[in-house]
Amino acid sequence: MQQVALYIHMPFCIKKCAYCDFNSYEKLEIIPRYLSALKREMENYKRHKLKVETVYIGGGTPTVLNETQLYLLIQSIYDCFDVMPGAEFTIEANPGTLTKSKLNTLKRLGVNRLSIGLQAYQDKLLKILGRIHSQKDFNDTYNLAREAGFKNINVDVIFGLPEQSVSDFVSTLEKLCVLLPEHISCYSLIVEPGTPFYELKKQGNLNLPNENDERLMYYHAKNYLQEQGYIHYEISNFAIPGKESSHNIIYWQLKDYLGLGAGAHSFMKGIRFNNYYKPEKYIEAIEKHNSALEMQERVSIKDKQAEFCFLGLRLIKGISKHDFHTAFGIDIHEVYGEAIEKLKKLGLLDENRQYLKLTSHGLDFANDVFIEFLQ
Ligand code: SF4
Repeated sequence: MQQVALYIHMPFCIKKCAYCDFNSYEKLEIIPRYLSALKREMENYKRHKLKVETVYIGGGTPTVLNETQLYLLIQSIYDCFDVMPGAEFTIEANPGTLTKSKLNTLKRLGVNRLSIGLQAYQDKLLKILGRIHSQKDFNDTYNLAREAGFKNINVDVIFGLPEQSVSDFVSTLEKLCVLLPEHISCYSLIVEPGTPFYELKKQGNLNLPNENDERLMYYHAKNYLQEQGYIHYEISNFAIPGKESSHNIIYWQLKDYLGLGAGAHSFMKGIRFNNYYKPEKYIEAIEKHNSALEMQERVSIKDKQAEFCFLGLRLIKGISKHDFHTAFGIDIHEVYGEAIEKLKKLGLLDENRQYLKLTSHGLDFANDVFIEFLQ
């Protein structure tokens, strides 16, 4: 039986944040139709009897669904897939969208990991970001989750925010670590086209930290979180030992995953495919044709080798040269020898007998490294 990681996309939020370019909309009124379409899409896979190693319900804000909707959605997952015993089962949540009873329902249904968006601990920054919650809402949600028995919680924070000082970020991490979450994701803000932040930046009205301060925040996260007992296991991710995200590691190791819902991407048996991006188009396609497939293509060996490298290099331990050989039947140096030597000379890549990995300098220039594997 084929084994996959399962991703379900929930493209709805109560309010769009000012920096957000994710596939998410303030159109809560179409949730019932979206869920019916999603159910049909899941049912299409029933006959494949896929074994699911990890489940991840992301968004958007999946916890905008009410309890009954969450219940039916998760029941459909169990009905259509063979979720392996003990599988990591994550749902993304935003403070202010979880109640005690919702949390109990999720727990009862086998959800064992919560990923909560905090972003920053300062209310002034949360306001600038356009978040719907305050730091108090976050604390309340976090405590409710612990009371409901969740023992694996990720918290997302962002650095490099407008008006954010290095000491704001230092304080965010300090306050967060007091709560002892099992996993922390620290992302650097990217101002994406099409967002209100992008327009403000163009007009010169977005007061972002300078590059030096932005890097100081990242170095601080790396040092401080490791002092607090977290392992820095991926460019932006930290976990206490044993609580690394199994779901995301599947992506970074280029293993098979199935994505369902609007805009979701999949990679299975060497084929990459994705659904229509807009929820309305997704719903319409499923209602009319029972499929929302927008594109599918067989990934060439060359592309697979490149993806294996630049996804694998996101992991701090790097890529295993042996695994590359097993996957492609060729020594990694025969394919990327020139790039590897160049990156080593630049001090961006490190090599030992088994692994190739980014140096700490390389972590700052990861995208430049990845590009070398795409030539
Ligand atoms: S909560 Fe997340 S997905 Fe929703 S608008 Fe804000 S950043 Fe985007």
